[in-house]
Amino acid sequence: MKQQQAPGQLEIARAFINTLDLEAGTDDFATSTGMQRWLARHLPAAPGTINEDDRRRVVEFRVLLRAAAAANGPTSPDIDWLSALNHLADGTPLQLRFGDALAPHLSTPDDGRDTVFAQLLWIVAVAAIDGTWKRLKVCPAEDCRWAFYDNSKNRMGVWCQMAECGNRHKARAHRARQHLAPPERQPDRSARPGDRKKPWEATQRT
Ligand SMILES: [Zn+2]
Repeated sequence: MKQQQAPGQLEIARAFINTLDLEAGTDDFATSTGMQRWLARHLPAAPGTINEDDRRRVVEFRVLLRAAAAANGPTSPDIDWLSALNHLADGTPLQLRFGDALAPHLSTPDDGRDTVFAQLLWIVAVAAIDGTWKRLKVCPAEDCRWAFYDNSKNRMGVWCQMAECGNRHKARAHRARQHLAPPERQPDRSARPGDRKKPWEATQRT
């Protein structure tokens, strides 16, 4: 498997997006208790409570982040994620705080979903400044959409795994081309079937 892990806290944002795993058909955020458990494990400061309304808003935020990361790849997402992200930042009371050795972070007086937004907005902002955000991408395969960190030298990685999603896409495109192409005349193989040597015969016979 390709190295997909993002550096530093950006890995939290990547894991956050991948809580919805289309290939496995699982969603860690399907219930508010599931979400709360995940957030407690992954965020530096876990929210006190997550109610159903919080859960829905955080899931919407996940859609936004996935679209924002997808925009780092070749296809542009079909939602206006930038306006939505700014709208979300507008509606979240954010406070700049300093920790040990002046380590900055964003905080919020709210104990619910805003705690989630504040921490992830901070992670995204830092990654946008240090240049790592551009490498957080989303696999364009419709049935995958996995977020991965593009560790390639030329930053041109497109698929989460070329061996799976990339090749599946190539095979589909090939089939589509064949479907569109005018019918070709097939060689008549039925005439003398006995003449065609089976692959294993070539090596067994001496
Ligand atoms: Zn993929």
